[in-house]
Amino acid sequence: MIKIGITGGIGSGKTTVCRIFEKLGIPVFYADTVAKEIMITDPVLREGIINTFGQESYENDGRLNNKYIAQLVFNDKKELEKLNALVHPAVFRAFDSWEEAIAADVPYTLKEAALLFESGSYQLCDKNILVTAPAAVKIERVMERDGVTRAQVEARMDKQLSDDEKNKMADFLITNDESQSVILQVLELHHQFINLTK
Ligand code: ATP
Repeated sequence: MIKIGITGGIGSGKTTVCRIFEKLGIPVFYADTVAKEIMITDPVLREGIINTFGQESYENDGRLNNKYIAQLVFNDKKELEKLNALVHPAVFRAFDSWEEAIAADVPYTLKEAALLFESGSYQLCDKNILVTAPAAVKIERVMERDGVTRAQVEARMDKQLSDDEKNKMADFLITNDESQSVILQVLELHHQFINLTK
């Protein structure tokens, strides 16, 4: 059973691409969604966050105080590193148990993560896919999807590695620029991954 990492810059369409793999029966672990969930549900992670950032990290009803955490880490690299050092290992643990439960039934799994390369988690995958799109297309998509300004999207983009840097670490590329068929590119990779398992 092989593990495939998949990433791409904000608005590149990595989640859209993952939905196509899911239609082919391939399970996808959405690392960023899981990270948000386990910050609430994983007692060890909660304790680490409270010890590092204080009791105000959580609301009285147990939800994460997103505003407080975002303010702490958005413009402070050191604080962000501290948060990542708590969250990333917890996500790795969650991925391992998720995979163990389904490994026998599928040829391969996908792990979708915005920071696959930045977090180093690509090294734990057998192969990695980068989804790309031109910057102008990505910006338009995110402005439309999230109802945010161009400047807000650019600020988020500036915090990610460039596609050129990610490309050096990727094994496969999916171009989601709305001129080439994404479905055909996914099918081609799906066949390659199945062949890798034979
Ligand atoms: P983020 O990192 O911000 O979560 P993402 O890389 O997961 O983004 P998606 O959420 O898949 O990107 O796509 C961003 C937006 O662009 C979505 O609204 C999606 O529907 C749209 N989109 C993605 N690919 C295409 C496409 N090929 N044609 C039209 N719309 C697209």
